[in-house]
Amino acid sequence: MEEDNRRKKSEAGVTVVELLLVLAIIALLFTKGSAVFAQTIASTKGVVCDLNIKIYTKEYNEFLVSRNIDHSDSVLRQFLEDAEKHPCPHKGDISYENNKLKCEYHRGEILEEVEEVPYI
Ligand SMILES: [Zn+2]
Repeated sequence: MEEDNRRKKSEAGVTVVELLLVLAIIALLFTKGSAVFAQTIASTKGVVCDLNIKIYTKEYNEFLVSRNIDHSDSVLRQFLEDAEKHPCPHKGDISYENNKLKCEYHRGEILEEVEEVPYI
């Protein structure tokens, strides 16, 4: 009789405390994981911006030479409109200095920052 009671108790399944503990651990992992994921997404957008800026710089310089015109803000704005796709995923303002395009949002510093791969 006592053996039956012990067996029933052990087969009763998980208690509420155990369930809450598991849920708390899952919530903690999800919170930490989503923060790392958001940081990774932001870094990736910066890298995409830097690479696009390098490509657009080359194309813009070729555009200026092929049409034999000098840079001006209106020429740059028209070039970016004709490209139909903004080089920066954050739509940062694009400027032109020393024959190079530059994103005012990312400032071309992302590629040096992303050296280590974040992990959970
Ligand atoms: Zn940018």
